[in-house]
Amino acid sequence: MNTLLTTLMISIMSYTMPKLPYANNALEPVISQQTIDLHYGKHFQGYVNNLNNLVPGTEFENKSVEAIVASAPDGAIFNNAGQVLNHTLYFLQFSPKPAHSEPTGKLTEAIKRDFGSFDNFKKEFTAASVGLFGSGWAWLSEDKEGKLIITKETNGSNPVRHGLNPLLGFDVWEHSYYLDYQNRRADHINALWSIIDWDVVGSRFK
Ligand code: MN
Repeated sequence: MNTLLTTLMISIMSYTMPKLPYANNALEPVISQQTIDLHYGKHFQGYVNNLNNLVPGTEFENKSVEAIVASAPDGAIFNNAGQVLNHTLYFLQFSPKPAHSEPTGKLTEAIKRDFGSFDNFKKEFTAASVGLFGSGWAWLSEDKEGKLIITKETNGSNPVRHGLNPLLGFDVWEHSYYLDYQNRRADHINALWSIIDWDVVGSRFK
């Protein structure tokens, strides 16, 4: 096979980074440019590169990231696919100037129904994020019936693993906040609420 064709095929089958919908310094002071440069530019890119290196020649070739996270056995392919999915959802859920400070549309009603109020949801989600032991993620997801649920995932896992549809995810790996907040994870979590793009989160709710 000629080189051009090989290159083309590799590029068709490869997993890619989403382009950030904001400048690398636009989320300051909540998330610094240095953290975005490293978290998005190095950590996230690393997971994408790893997945592209691991998948060819396996049963997961040509499978979507979601399909891999749902079905791969524990191990390197699952870990890296999980982190590709996690960070795709994570980096696309922020805005430097969100149009709304709270959920809108049908997500508002569902949050009221399942958590009592938006304030109470924030309290529960913050507690899940702050209280997660070690590296992992806190997620707001919907189950098959459209009921909202807060879950914690360790390391690189994602709610898709459990048949849930993830809407909002907070990364509590130290790489996500340590440069800006050091050990003050709670301060980082509390600051994140001001840059959530609720239009994006709401658009994930089916
Ligand atoms: Mn991360």
